[in-house]
Amino acid sequence: MTEAKDVETRWWGWGDINKTYPVEERPTYIPFLEDKLDIKVERVRVPDPKLEDLHLRDPRLKREKVALLEEIVGEKNVDTSRRGRVYHALGKSYRDIVRARLGDIPNPPDAVVYPGTEDEISALLKLAEDEGIAVTPFCGGSSVVGGVESLDNGFSASISVDMRRMDGVIRVSPESRTARFEAGIWGPELEEELKKHGLYLGHAPESFLLSGLGGWIASRGAGRQSTGYGKIEEMVESVRLLTPRGAIDTRDVPASATGPDLVRMIAGSEGALGIITQATMKVRALPRKYDYRGVLFKEFEGGVRAVREMIHSGVIPETIRISDAEESAFATHVRKPSSNVAKETAIQAALKAIGVMGYSFETGALGILGCEGGKADVARRMKKIQSISRKNGAIPLGKSVGKEWHHGRYDHPYLRDIMFGWGVMTDTLETSTTWENIMPLYRATKDAIRQALADYDSKDIVTCHLSHSYPTGSSLYFIFLGKIAKGREIEQWEHIKKLAGEAIFANGGTITHHHGVGYEHATWFAQEYGPQGMEALRGLKKALDPAGIMNPGKLGL
Ligand SMILES: Cc1cc2nc3c(=O)[nH]c(=O)nc-3n(C[C@H](O)[C@H](O)[C@H](O)COP(=O)(O)OP(=O)(O)OC[C@H]3O[C@@H](n4cnc5c(N)ncnc54)[C@H](O)[C@@H]3O)c2cc1C
Repeated sequence: MTEAKDVETRWWGWGDINKTYPVEERPTYIPFLEDKLDIKVERVRVPDPKLEDLHLRDPRLKREKVALLEEIVGEKNVDTSRRGRVYHALGKSYRDIVRARLGDIPNPPDAVVYPGTEDEISALLKLAEDEGIAVTPFCGGSSVVGGVESLDNGFSASISVDMRRMDGVIRVSPESRTARFEAGIWGPELEEELKKHGLYLGHAPESFLLSGLGGWIASRGAGRQSTGYGKIEEMVESVRLLTPRGAIDTRDVPASATGPDLVRMIAGSEGALGIITQATMKVRALPRKYDYRGVLFKEFEGGVRAVREMIHSGVIPETIRISDAEESAFATHVRKPSSNVAKETAIQAALKAIGVMGYSFETGALGILGCEGGKADVARRMKKIQSISRKNGAIPLGKSVGKEWHHGRYDHPYLRDIMFGWGVMTDTLETSTTWENIMPLYRATKDAIRQALADYDSKDIVTCHLSHSYPTGSSLYFIFLGKIAKGREIEQWEHIKKLAGEAIFANGGTITHHHGVGYEHATWFAQEYGPQGMEALRGLKKALDPAGIMNPGKLGL
Protein backbone atom coordinates (compact mmCIF):
# COMPACT_ATOMS: atom_id res chain seq x y z
CA MET A 1 0.00 0.00 0.00
CA THR A 2 1.07 3.54 -0.65
CA GLU A 3 2.35 6.17 1.69
CA ALA A 4 -0.60 8.57 2.10
CA LYS A 5 -2.88 5.69 2.98
CA ASP A 6 -0.54 4.52 5.70
CA VAL A 7 -1.09 7.73 7.61
CA GLU A 8 -3.25 7.12 10.67
CA THR A 9 -6.20 9.48 10.56
CA ARG A 10 -8.68 10.74 13.14
CA TRP A 11 -12.00 8.90 13.22
CA TRP A 12 -13.55 11.77 15.21
CA GLY A 13 -12.28 14.59 13.03
CA TRP A 14 -10.06 15.58 10.19
CA GLY A 15 -6.68 14.45 9.09
CA ASP A 16 -3.38 12.95 10.06
CA ILE A 17 -3.39 12.02 13.73
CA ASN A 18 0.10 13.43 14.12
CA LYS A 19 -0.81 16.84 12.76
CA THR A 20 -2.68 19.62 14.40
CA TYR A 21 -3.21 23.33 14.05
CA PRO A 22 -0.76 25.31 16.15
CA VAL A 23 -3.22 27.88 17.51
CA GLU A 24 -0.68 28.77 20.17
CA GLU A 25 1.47 30.36 17.46
CA ARG A 26 -1.35 32.73 16.47
CA PRO A 27 -1.62 35.18 19.35
CA THR A 28 -4.55 37.22 18.06
CA TYR A 29 -6.79 34.34 17.05
CA ILE A 30 -8.40 33.33 20.34
CA PRO A 31 -9.02 36.95 21.47
CA PHE A 32 -10.58 37.64 18.04
CA LEU A 33 -12.90 34.67 18.40
CA GLU A 34 -13.79 35.47 21.99
CA ASP A 35 -14.69 38.98 20.99
CA LYS A 36 -16.72 38.06 17.90
CA LEU A 37 -18.60 35.14 19.43
CA ASP A 38 -18.80 36.39 22.99
CA ILE A 39 -17.25 33.22 24.39
CA LYS A 40 -14.42 32.36 26.76
CA VAL A 41 -11.86 29.79 25.66
CA GLU A 42 -10.86 27.97 28.85
CA ARG A 43 -8.46 25.40 27.50
CA VAL A 44 -6.63 25.48 24.19
CA ARG A 45 -6.41 21.67 23.88
CA VAL A 46 -9.29 19.42 24.84
CA PRO A 47 -8.51 15.66 25.08
CA ASP A 48 -9.45 13.46 22.15
CA PRO A 49 -12.26 10.90 22.47
CA LYS A 50 -11.24 7.27 22.87
CA LEU A 51 -12.21 4.41 20.63
CA GLU A 52 -12.79 2.08 23.57
CA ASP A 53 -15.36 4.45 25.11
CA LEU A 54 -17.67 4.15 22.11
CA HIS A 55 -20.81 2.13 22.26
CA LEU A 56 -20.98 0.28 18.96
CA ARG A 57 -23.68 -1.99 17.58
CA ASP A 58 -22.47 -5.61 17.34
CA PRO A 59 -21.72 -6.79 13.79
CA ARG A 60 -24.85 -8.30 12.26
CA LEU A 61 -23.02 -10.52 9.79
CA LYS A 62 -22.85 -14.10 11.03
CA ARG A 63 -19.48 -15.85 10.98
CA GLU A 64 -20.45 -17.94 7.93
CA LYS A 65 -21.30 -14.78 5.95
CA VAL A 66 -17.98 -13.20 6.89
CA ALA A 67 -16.36 -16.42 5.65
CA LEU A 68 -18.05 -15.89 2.27
CA LEU A 69 -16.54 -12.40 2.06
CA GLU A 70 -13.16 -13.83 3.03
CA GLU A 71 -13.45 -16.43 0.31
CA ILE A 72 -13.75 -13.64 -2.23
CA VAL A 73 -11.07 -11.18 -1.10
CA GLY A 74 -8.92 -13.23 1.26
CA GLU A 75 -9.08 -13.38 5.04
CA LYS A 76 -6.75 -10.47 5.69
CA ASN A 77 -8.85 -8.20 3.49
CA VAL A 78 -11.99 -8.43 5.58
CA ASP A 79 -12.04 -6.34 8.72
CA THR A 80 -14.74 -6.69 11.36
CA SER A 81 -12.73 -5.02 14.09
CA ARG A 82 -14.14 -2.16 16.12
CA ARG A 83 -11.44 0.10 14.78
CA GLY A 84 -12.03 -0.74 11.12
CA ARG A 85 -15.79 -0.36 11.44
CA VAL A 86 -15.57 2.98 13.25
CA TYR A 87 -13.11 4.39 10.72
CA HIS A 88 -15.56 3.57 7.93
CA ALA A 89 -18.73 4.57 9.76
CA LEU A 90 -18.75 8.30 9.10
CA GLY A 91 -17.38 10.89 6.73
CA LYS A 92 -16.18 14.34 7.76
CA SER A 93 -19.26 16.57 7.78
CA TYR A 94 -20.09 18.67 10.83
CA ARG A 95 -22.86 16.21 11.65
CA ASP A 96 -20.28 13.40 11.51
CA ILE A 97 -17.85 15.22 13.77
CA VAL A 98 -20.57 15.97 16.33
CA ARG A 99 -21.73 12.37 16.40
CA ALA A 100 -18.22 10.96 16.59
CA ARG A 101 -17.38 13.32 19.46
CA LEU A 102 -20.54 12.38 21.31
CA GLY A 103 -19.90 8.69 20.70
CA ASP A 104 -23.03 8.37 18.58
CA ILE A 105 -22.13 6.12 15.65
CA PRO A 106 -25.47 4.77 14.52
CA ASN A 107 -24.57 2.99 11.28
CA PRO A 108 -21.21 1.27 11.48
CA PRO A 109 -20.71 -1.15 8.58
CA ASP A 110 -20.77 -4.76 9.71
CA ALA A 111 -17.55 -5.42 7.85
CA VAL A 112 -15.00 -3.51 5.83
CA VAL A 113 -13.86 -5.27 2.69
CA TYR A 114 -10.73 -4.45 0.67
CA PRO A 115 -11.02 -5.92 -2.85
CA GLY A 116 -7.91 -6.22 -5.00
CA THR A 117 -9.42 -6.96 -8.43
CA GLU A 118 -12.50 -6.29 -10.51
CA ASP A 119 -13.43 -9.97 -10.34
CA GLU A 120 -13.49 -9.69 -6.58
CA ILE A 121 -15.76 -6.64 -6.78
CA SER A 122 -18.15 -8.44 -9.13
CA ALA A 123 -18.24 -11.41 -6.78
CA LEU A 124 -18.86 -9.11 -3.81
CA LEU A 125 -21.77 -7.41 -5.58
CA LYS A 126 -23.26 -10.78 -6.48
CA LEU A 127 -22.95 -12.00 -2.90
CA ALA A 128 -24.42 -8.76 -1.57
CA GLU A 129 -27.40 -9.08 -3.92
CA ASP A 130 -27.97 -12.72 -2.97
CA GLU A 131 -27.69 -12.05 0.75
CA GLY A 132 -29.43 -8.67 0.87
CA ILE A 133 -26.38 -6.75 2.06
CA ALA A 134 -26.02 -3.02 1.44
CA VAL A 135 -22.73 -1.90 -0.16
CA THR A 136 -21.09 1.48 0.40
CA PRO A 137 -18.03 2.30 -1.71
CA PHE A 138 -15.26 4.06 0.21
CA CYS A 139 -12.24 5.91 -1.16
CA GLY A 140 -10.68 8.46 1.21
CA GLY A 141 -13.79 8.82 3.39
CA SER A 142 -13.64 12.63 3.28
CA SER A 143 -17.25 13.05 2.14
CA VAL A 144 -18.91 16.00 3.86
CA VAL A 145 -22.46 15.07 2.86
CA GLY A 146 -22.88 11.68 4.54
CA GLY A 147 -21.76 9.84 1.38
CA VAL A 148 -19.83 7.04 3.09
CA GLU A 149 -22.21 6.32 5.94
CA SER A 150 -23.65 2.82 5.54
CA LEU A 151 -27.37 3.48 5.67
CA ASP A 152 -28.71 -0.02 5.21
CA ASN A 153 -32.37 0.97 4.68
CA GLY A 154 -33.87 -2.38 5.62
CA PHE A 155 -31.02 -4.62 4.47
CA SER A 156 -29.84 -7.34 6.83
CA ALA A 157 -26.31 -5.95 7.00
CA SER A 158 -23.96 -3.51 5.33
CA ILE A 159 -20.39 -3.58 4.10
CA SER A 160 -18.01 -0.76 3.33
CA VAL A 161 -15.97 -1.52 0.21
CA ASP A 162 -12.68 0.31 0.67
CA MET A 163 -10.91 0.65 -2.68
CA ARG A 164 -7.42 1.43 -1.36
CA ARG A 165 -5.80 -1.75 -2.69
CA MET A 166 -6.88 -0.93 -6.23
CA ASP A 167 -4.57 2.00 -6.70
CA GLY A 168 -2.47 1.06 -9.72
CA VAL A 169 -1.42 3.04 -12.76
CA ILE A 170 -2.77 1.19 -15.79
CA ARG A 171 -1.18 3.24 -18.54
CA VAL A 172 0.15 6.69 -19.21
CA SER A 173 0.16 8.19 -22.68
CA PRO A 174 2.25 11.35 -22.92
CA GLU A 175 1.34 11.46 -26.60
CA SER A 176 -2.43 11.61 -26.01
CA ARG A 177 -2.00 13.35 -22.67
CA THR A 178 -4.09 10.74 -20.88
CA ALA A 179 -3.44 8.47 -17.93
CA ARG A 180 -5.54 5.56 -16.75
CA PHE A 181 -5.66 4.65 -13.07
CA GLU A 182 -7.46 2.30 -10.79
CA ALA A 183 -10.03 4.27 -8.84
CA GLY A 184 -8.57 3.64 -5.39
CA ILE A 185 -5.49 5.79 -6.00
CA TRP A 186 -5.22 8.84 -3.73
CA GLY A 187 -4.20 12.37 -4.65
CA PRO A 188 -0.51 12.46 -3.69
CA GLU A 189 0.30 9.09 -5.32
CA LEU A 190 -1.59 9.97 -8.48
CA GLU A 191 0.35 13.21 -8.97
CA GLU A 192 3.60 11.49 -7.99
CA GLU A 193 3.07 8.85 -10.70
CA LEU A 194 2.28 11.47 -13.32
CA LYS A 195 5.30 13.52 -12.33
CA LYS A 196 7.55 10.64 -13.40
CA HIS A 197 6.29 11.32 -16.95
CA GLY A 198 6.43 15.11 -16.66
CA LEU A 199 2.62 15.18 -16.42
CA TYR A 200 0.05 16.57 -14.01
CA LEU A 201 -3.68 16.23 -13.33
CA GLY A 202 -4.21 19.42 -11.34
CA HIS A 203 -7.20 18.40 -9.21
CA ALA A 204 -6.39 19.47 -5.67
CA PRO A 205 -9.34 19.77 -3.31
CA GLU A 206 -8.50 20.91 0.21
CA SER A 207 -8.85 17.22 1.14
CA PHE A 208 -6.27 16.26 -1.54
CA LEU A 209 -3.83 14.50 0.81
CA LEU A 210 -6.49 12.08 2.09
CA SER A 211 -8.91 11.57 -0.79
CA GLY A 212 -8.79 9.78 -4.11
CA LEU A 213 -9.85 9.38 -7.69
CA GLY A 214 -12.98 7.23 -7.25
CA GLY A 215 -14.33 9.53 -4.54
CA TRP A 216 -13.54 12.67 -6.56
CA ILE A 217 -15.40 11.39 -9.61
CA ALA A 218 -18.27 9.87 -7.66
CA SER A 219 -18.93 13.14 -5.85
CA ARG A 220 -18.12 15.51 -8.77
CA GLY A 221 -15.60 17.53 -6.84
CA ALA A 222 -13.65 20.66 -7.69
CA GLY A 223 -10.01 21.30 -6.92
CA ARG A 224 -8.23 24.51 -6.04
CA GLN A 225 -7.27 25.06 -9.70
CA SER A 226 -10.68 24.33 -11.20
CA THR A 227 -11.04 27.81 -12.73
CA GLY A 228 -8.21 26.89 -15.07
CA TYR A 229 -8.57 23.12 -15.36
CA GLY A 230 -12.27 22.50 -14.74
CA LYS A 231 -14.10 20.28 -12.28
CA ILE A 232 -13.23 16.60 -12.05
CA GLU A 233 -15.95 15.52 -14.49
CA GLU A 234 -14.31 17.67 -17.16
CA MET A 235 -11.02 15.85 -16.59
CA VAL A 236 -12.43 12.37 -17.15
CA GLU A 237 -11.81 10.95 -20.62
CA SER A 238 -13.40 7.58 -19.88
CA VAL A 239 -14.56 5.58 -16.91
CA ARG A 240 -15.43 2.03 -15.95
CA LEU A 241 -18.29 1.29 -13.56
CA LEU A 242 -19.08 -2.15 -12.17
CA THR A 243 -22.76 -2.39 -11.37
CA PRO A 244 -24.65 -5.34 -9.92
CA ARG A 245 -25.88 -5.94 -13.52
CA GLY A 246 -22.45 -5.78 -15.17
CA ALA A 247 -19.89 -3.26 -16.38
CA ILE A 248 -20.30 0.06 -18.13
CA ASP A 249 -17.15 1.00 -19.98
CA THR A 250 -16.84 4.22 -21.91
CA ARG A 251 -14.34 4.75 -24.73
CA ASP A 252 -11.03 6.56 -24.53
CA VAL A 253 -11.96 9.22 -27.06
CA PRO A 254 -11.69 13.00 -26.76
CA ALA A 255 -15.30 13.60 -27.77
CA SER A 256 -18.26 11.67 -29.06
CA ALA A 257 -21.87 12.09 -30.14
CA THR A 258 -23.02 8.67 -29.01
CA GLY A 259 -26.18 9.73 -27.23
CA PRO A 260 -26.35 11.05 -23.67
CA ASP A 261 -22.89 11.17 -22.12
CA LEU A 262 -22.30 8.11 -19.92
CA VAL A 263 -19.21 9.67 -18.31
CA ARG A 264 -21.34 12.54 -17.05
CA MET A 265 -23.92 10.08 -15.81
CA ILE A 266 -21.36 8.16 -13.78
CA ALA A 267 -19.68 11.30 -12.42
CA GLY A 268 -21.74 12.26 -9.39
CA SER A 269 -23.31 8.81 -9.01
CA GLU A 270 -21.98 8.64 -5.42
CA GLY A 271 -21.75 4.86 -5.33
CA ALA A 272 -25.49 4.52 -5.85
CA LEU A 273 -25.20 2.90 -9.30
CA GLY A 274 -22.06 0.83 -8.91
CA ILE A 275 -18.36 0.98 -8.15
CA ILE A 276 -16.01 2.99 -10.34
CA THR A 277 -12.97 0.78 -10.82
CA GLN A 278 -10.91 2.68 -13.39
CA ALA A 279 -10.79 6.03 -15.12
CA THR A 280 -8.72 7.58 -17.87
CA MET A 281 -7.90 11.15 -16.98
CA LYS A 282 -6.98 14.06 -19.22
CA VAL A 283 -3.60 15.25 -18.03
CA ARG A 284 -1.31 18.15 -18.89
CA ALA A 285 2.36 19.06 -18.79
CA LEU A 286 3.75 19.42 -15.30
CA PRO A 287 3.82 23.17 -14.64
CA ARG A 288 7.29 24.64 -14.72
CA LYS A 289 6.13 27.63 -12.75
CA TYR A 290 3.62 28.23 -9.95
CA ASP A 291 2.94 31.90 -9.33
CA TYR A 292 0.47 32.68 -6.52
CA ARG A 293 -0.04 36.29 -5.51
CA GLY A 294 -2.05 38.28 -3.06
CA VAL A 295 -4.03 41.41 -3.89
CA LEU A 296 -6.32 43.54 -1.75
CA PHE A 297 -9.49 44.98 -3.24
CA LYS A 298 -11.30 47.92 -1.71
CA GLU A 299 -14.38 45.77 -1.38
CA PHE A 300 -15.66 42.28 -2.27
CA GLU A 301 -17.71 43.46 -5.23
CA GLY A 302 -14.57 44.89 -6.86
CA GLY A 303 -12.93 41.48 -6.60
CA VAL A 304 -15.98 39.81 -8.11
CA ARG A 305 -15.94 42.28 -11.01
CA ALA A 306 -12.24 41.74 -11.59
CA VAL A 307 -12.60 37.95 -11.78
CA ARG A 308 -15.48 38.27 -14.21
CA GLU A 309 -13.44 40.58 -16.39
CA MET A 310 -10.43 38.24 -16.32
CA ILE A 311 -12.52 35.32 -17.44
CA HIS A 312 -14.44 37.23 -20.08
CA SER A 313 -11.22 38.55 -21.55
CA GLY A 314 -9.64 35.09 -21.62
CA VAL A 315 -6.99 35.80 -18.97
CA ILE A 316 -7.68 32.92 -16.66
CA PRO A 317 -5.81 32.16 -13.46
CA GLU A 318 -5.98 28.48 -12.50
CA THR A 319 -6.75 29.43 -8.90
CA ILE A 320 -9.03 32.18 -7.71
CA ARG A 321 -10.05 33.01 -4.20
CA ILE A 322 -11.58 36.39 -3.42
CA SER A 323 -12.42 36.64 0.27
CA ASP A 324 -15.07 39.02 1.52
CA ALA A 325 -14.30 41.45 4.34
CA GLU A 326 -15.12 38.99 7.13
CA GLU A 327 -12.89 36.33 5.63
CA SER A 328 -10.11 38.84 4.96
CA ALA A 329 -10.22 39.99 8.58
CA PHE A 330 -10.31 36.37 9.73
CA ALA A 331 -7.19 35.64 7.65
CA THR A 332 -5.22 38.38 9.38
CA HIS A 333 -6.23 37.15 12.85
CA VAL A 334 -5.44 33.51 12.18
CA ARG A 335 -2.10 34.41 10.64
CA LYS A 336 1.09 33.18 12.25
CA PRO A 337 3.51 36.09 12.73
CA SER A 338 6.91 35.52 11.20
CA SER A 339 9.59 34.30 13.60
CA ASN A 340 12.00 36.56 11.75
CA VAL A 341 11.71 39.86 13.66
CA ALA A 342 12.91 42.01 10.78
CA LYS A 343 10.45 40.37 8.41
CA GLU A 344 7.56 40.78 10.83
CA THR A 345 8.44 44.43 11.39
CA ALA A 346 8.39 44.95 7.64
CA ILE A 347 4.98 43.23 7.39
CA GLN A 348 3.54 45.45 10.11
CA ALA A 349 4.94 48.53 8.36
CA ALA A 350 3.39 47.37 5.08
CA LEU A 351 0.03 46.91 6.81
CA LYS A 352 0.23 50.47 8.11
CA ALA A 353 1.07 51.75 4.64
CA ILE A 354 -1.91 49.87 3.25
CA GLY A 355 -4.09 51.62 5.83
CA VAL A 356 -2.72 55.02 4.84
CA MET A 357 -3.71 54.25 1.25
CA GLY A 358 -7.29 53.73 2.44
CA TYR A 359 -7.28 49.92 2.29
CA SER A 360 -8.10 47.56 5.11
CA PHE A 361 -8.46 43.83 5.71
CA GLU A 362 -11.48 44.60 7.90
CA THR A 363 -13.46 46.13 5.01
CA GLY A 364 -11.58 45.02 1.90
CA ALA A 365 -11.30 41.76 0.01
CA LEU A 366 -8.15 39.67 0.04
CA GLY A 367 -7.60 37.97 -3.28
CA ILE A 368 -5.36 35.02 -4.04
CA LEU A 369 -4.73 34.57 -7.73
CA GLY A 370 -2.60 31.69 -8.90
CA CYS A 371 -1.23 30.79 -12.31
CA GLU A 372 0.47 27.52 -13.18
CA GLY A 373 2.14 26.48 -16.42
CA GLY A 374 5.04 27.42 -18.66
CA LYS A 375 7.20 30.31 -17.47
CA ALA A 376 6.40 32.75 -20.28
CA ASP A 377 2.69 31.94 -20.25
CA VAL A 378 2.45 32.40 -16.48
CA ALA A 379 4.34 35.70 -16.64
CA ARG A 380 2.11 36.98 -19.46
CA ARG A 381 -1.13 36.03 -17.71
CA MET A 382 -0.02 37.28 -14.31
CA LYS A 383 0.80 40.67 -15.76
CA LYS A 384 -2.69 41.00 -17.24
CA ILE A 385 -4.31 39.64 -14.08
CA GLN A 386 -2.53 42.26 -12.00
CA SER A 387 -3.58 44.96 -14.40
CA ILE A 388 -7.27 43.91 -14.36
CA SER A 389 -7.11 43.71 -10.55
CA ARG A 390 -5.67 47.23 -10.33
CA LYS A 391 -8.31 48.52 -12.72
CA ASN A 392 -10.94 47.14 -10.34
CA GLY A 393 -9.46 48.87 -7.34
CA ALA A 394 -6.89 46.40 -5.99
CA ILE A 395 -3.41 46.95 -4.67
CA PRO A 396 -0.81 44.19 -5.01
CA LEU A 397 0.31 42.36 -1.86
CA GLY A 398 3.02 40.45 -3.62
CA LYS A 399 4.21 36.89 -3.89
CA SER A 400 4.83 36.27 -0.20
CA VAL A 401 1.09 36.48 0.61
CA GLY A 402 0.34 34.07 -2.24
CA LYS A 403 3.11 31.72 -1.15
CA GLU A 404 1.97 31.76 2.47
CA TRP A 405 -1.56 30.85 1.41
CA HIS A 406 -0.31 28.11 -0.93
CA HIS A 407 1.95 26.72 1.78
CA GLY A 408 -0.85 26.48 4.37
CA ARG A 409 -3.58 25.39 1.97
CA TYR A 410 -4.20 21.98 3.58
CA ASP A 411 -3.87 23.07 7.22
CA HIS A 412 -7.03 24.99 8.08
CA PRO A 413 -9.41 22.01 8.39
CA TYR A 414 -7.46 20.96 11.49
CA LEU A 415 -8.69 24.06 13.27
CA ARG A 416 -12.33 22.94 13.13
CA ASP A 417 -11.74 20.01 15.49
CA ILE A 418 -9.83 22.13 17.99
CA MET A 419 -12.57 24.74 18.07
CA PHE A 420 -15.19 22.09 18.67
CA GLY A 421 -13.52 21.54 22.03
CA TRP A 422 -14.03 25.26 22.74
CA GLY A 423 -17.76 24.99 22.12
CA VAL A 424 -17.44 26.61 18.70
CA MET A 425 -19.13 25.15 15.66
CA THR A 426 -17.58 25.64 12.23
CA ASP A 427 -18.89 24.41 8.97
CA THR A 428 -18.90 25.32 5.32
CA LEU A 429 -21.43 25.33 2.53
CA GLU A 430 -21.07 26.08 -1.12
CA THR A 431 -23.06 26.79 -4.24
CA SER A 432 -22.72 28.32 -7.67
CA THR A 433 -24.82 30.78 -9.58
CA THR A 434 -24.71 33.14 -12.54
CA TRP A 435 -22.79 36.41 -12.36
CA GLU A 436 -25.98 38.44 -12.17
CA ASN A 437 -27.10 36.48 -9.10
CA ILE A 438 -23.77 36.42 -7.28
CA MET A 439 -24.18 39.48 -5.08
CA PRO A 440 -27.87 38.97 -4.17
CA LEU A 441 -27.20 35.31 -3.34
CA TYR A 442 -24.12 36.26 -1.37
CA ARG A 443 -26.01 38.76 0.78
CA ALA A 444 -29.10 36.64 1.27
CA THR A 445 -27.15 33.53 2.26
CA LYS A 446 -24.98 35.37 4.74
CA ASP A 447 -28.07 36.96 6.29
CA ALA A 448 -29.78 33.57 6.47
CA ILE A 449 -26.83 31.95 8.24
CA ARG A 450 -26.59 34.85 10.70
CA GLN A 451 -30.30 34.64 11.41
CA ALA A 452 -30.08 30.88 11.93
CA LEU A 453 -27.22 31.27 14.39
CA ALA A 454 -29.07 34.05 16.23
CA ASP A 455 -32.08 31.73 16.50
CA TYR A 456 -29.83 29.57 18.68
CA ASP A 457 -28.56 32.51 20.73
CA SER A 458 -25.23 32.66 19.02
CA LYS A 459 -23.24 35.53 17.68
CA ASP A 460 -21.55 34.76 14.42
CA ILE A 461 -18.66 34.93 12.07
CA VAL A 462 -19.93 34.30 8.56
CA THR A 463 -17.39 34.53 5.79
CA CYS A 464 -17.51 33.92 2.08
CA HIS A 465 -15.15 33.63 -0.84
CA LEU A 466 -15.58 33.50 -4.56
CA SER A 467 -13.68 30.63 -6.17
CA HIS A 468 -14.12 28.14 -9.04
CA SER A 469 -15.26 30.69 -11.63
CA TYR A 470 -16.70 30.27 -15.12
CA PRO A 471 -17.66 32.51 -18.03
CA THR A 472 -21.30 32.44 -16.89
CA GLY A 473 -20.90 32.62 -13.13
CA SER A 474 -19.04 31.33 -10.13
CA SER A 475 -19.07 29.27 -7.01
CA LEU A 476 -19.47 30.95 -3.62
CA TYR A 477 -18.11 29.23 -0.53
CA PHE A 478 -19.37 30.15 2.93
CA ILE A 479 -17.67 29.39 6.23
CA PHE A 480 -19.55 30.02 9.45
CA LEU A 481 -18.64 29.93 13.11
CA GLY A 482 -20.95 30.17 16.07
CA LYS A 483 -21.50 29.03 19.63
CA ILE A 484 -22.54 25.38 19.82
CA ALA A 485 -26.05 24.89 21.21
CA LYS A 486 -25.12 22.19 23.73
CA GLY A 487 -27.42 19.18 23.56
CA ARG A 488 -28.99 20.52 20.35
CA GLU A 489 -25.91 20.46 18.14
CA ILE A 490 -27.42 18.70 15.14
CA GLU A 491 -30.75 20.48 15.37
CA GLN A 492 -28.87 23.81 15.34
CA TRP A 493 -26.79 22.78 12.35
CA GLU A 494 -29.82 21.51 10.42
CA HIS A 495 -31.52 24.83 11.05
CA ILE A 496 -28.57 26.70 9.55
CA LYS A 497 -28.48 24.39 6.54
CA LYS A 498 -32.21 24.84 6.05
CA LEU A 499 -32.22 28.64 6.11
CA ALA A 500 -29.07 28.82 3.99
CA GLY A 501 -30.48 26.30 1.50
CA GLU A 502 -33.68 28.35 1.17
CA ALA A 503 -31.68 31.52 0.52
CA ILE A 504 -29.52 29.75 -2.06
CA PHE A 505 -32.55 28.36 -3.85
CA ALA A 506 -34.47 31.62 -3.78
CA ASN A 507 -31.49 33.37 -5.37
CA GLY A 508 -30.84 31.02 -8.25
CA GLY A 509 -28.10 28.83 -6.78
CA THR A 510 -27.51 25.09 -6.80
CA ILE A 511 -27.54 23.22 -3.51
CA THR A 512 -23.99 22.08 -4.14
CA HIS A 513 -21.25 23.05 -6.58
CA HIS A 514 -18.74 20.39 -5.50
CA HIS A 515 -19.47 18.67 -2.18
CA GLY A 516 -22.15 16.42 -3.64
CA VAL A 517 -25.49 15.21 -2.33
CA GLY A 518 -25.04 12.18 -0.06
CA TYR A 519 -28.04 12.15 2.23
CA GLU A 520 -27.46 15.54 3.77
CA HIS A 521 -28.53 17.39 0.61
CA ALA A 522 -31.03 14.78 -0.56
CA THR A 523 -34.17 16.85 0.00
CA TRP A 524 -32.79 19.89 -1.78
CA PHE A 525 -31.40 17.70 -4.51
CA ALA A 526 -34.84 16.21 -5.24
CA GLN A 527 -36.23 19.74 -5.58
CA GLU A 528 -33.42 20.79 -7.87
CA TYR A 529 -33.65 17.68 -10.06
CA GLY A 530 -37.45 17.90 -10.19
CA PRO A 531 -39.96 15.01 -10.20
CA GLN A 532 -39.15 13.96 -13.77
CA GLY A 533 -35.42 14.08 -13.16
CA MET A 534 -35.85 11.96 -10.04
CA GLU A 535 -37.99 9.46 -11.91
CA ALA A 536 -35.30 9.12 -14.58
CA LEU A 537 -32.67 8.61 -11.89
CA ARG A 538 -34.78 5.99 -10.15
CA GLY A 539 -35.21 4.21 -13.49
CA LEU A 540 -31.47 4.19 -14.02
CA LYS A 541 -30.92 2.86 -10.52
CA LYS A 542 -33.46 0.11 -11.09
CA ALA A 543 -31.80 -0.92 -14.35
CA LEU A 544 -28.29 -1.11 -12.88
CA ASP A 545 -29.04 -2.05 -9.29
CA PRO A 546 -32.48 -3.68 -9.16
CA ALA A 547 -32.04 -4.92 -5.59
CA GLY A 548 -31.05 -1.42 -4.47
CA ILE A 549 -27.93 -2.60 -2.63
CA MET A 550 -25.65 0.22 -3.84
CA ASN A 551 -25.16 2.94 -1.25
CA PRO A 552 -28.82 3.10 -0.24
CA GLY A 553 -30.26 6.39 0.95
CA LYS A 554 -27.91 8.56 -1.12
CA LEU A 555 -28.99 10.89 -3.94
CA GLY A 556 -32.51 10.61 -2.55
CA LEU A 557 -32.69 6.97 -3.73
C1 LIG B 1 -11.31 19.16 5.00
C2 LIG B 1 -12.07 18.88 3.75
C3 LIG B 1 -11.86 19.66 2.64
C4 LIG B 1 -12.56 19.40 1.46
N1 LIG B 1 -12.31 20.17 0.37
C5 LIG B 1 -12.93 19.89 -0.80
C6 LIG B 1 -12.62 20.63 -1.97
O1 LIG B 1 -11.79 21.54 -1.95
N2 LIG B 1 -13.25 20.29 -3.11
C7 LIG B 1 -14.14 19.26 -3.17
O2 LIG B 1 -14.66 18.96 -4.23
N3 LIG B 1 -14.47 18.56 -2.06
C8 LIG B 1 -13.87 18.83 -0.90
N4 LIG B 1 -14.17 18.10 0.22
C9 LIG B 1 -15.16 17.02 0.15
C10 LIG B 1 -14.52 15.65 -0.21
O3 LIG B 1 -13.16 15.65 0.07
C11 LIG B 1 -14.75 15.38 -1.67
O4 LIG B 1 -16.11 15.09 -1.88
C12 LIG B 1 -13.91 14.23 -2.25
O5 LIG B 1 -14.10 14.22 -3.64
C13 LIG B 1 -14.25 12.88 -1.69
O6 LIG B 1 -13.21 12.00 -2.02
P1 LIG B 1 -12.91 10.71 -1.15
O7 LIG B 1 -11.84 9.97 -1.84
O8 LIG B 1 -12.65 11.05 0.25
O9 LIG B 1 -14.28 9.95 -1.31
P2 LIG B 1 -15.20 9.26 -0.22
O10 LIG B 1 -15.54 10.23 0.84
O11 LIG B 1 -14.63 7.98 0.20
O12 LIG B 1 -16.50 8.98 -1.10
C14 LIG B 1 -17.30 10.01 -1.60
C15 LIG B 1 -18.54 9.41 -2.26
O13 LIG B 1 -18.14 8.67 -3.40
C16 LIG B 1 -18.49 7.29 -3.26
N5 LIG B 1 -17.36 6.55 -3.80
C17 LIG B 1 -16.09 6.52 -3.36
N6 LIG B 1 -15.34 5.76 -4.15
C18 LIG B 1 -16.14 5.28 -5.12
C19 LIG B 1 -15.96 4.42 -6.23
N7 LIG B 1 -14.78 3.89 -6.52
N8 LIG B 1 -17.02 4.14 -7.00
C20 LIG B 1 -18.24 4.66 -6.74
N9 LIG B 1 -18.46 5.47 -5.70
C21 LIG B 1 -17.43 5.78 -4.90
C22 LIG B 1 -18.72 7.08 -1.79
O14 LIG B 1 -19.63 6.03 -1.54
C23 LIG B 1 -19.28 8.42 -1.38
O15 LIG B 1 -20.64 8.49 -1.69
C24 LIG B 1 -13.50 18.35 1.42
C25 LIG B 1 -13.70 17.56 2.55
C26 LIG B 1 -13.00 17.82 3.70
C27 LIG B 1 -13.22 16.95 4.90
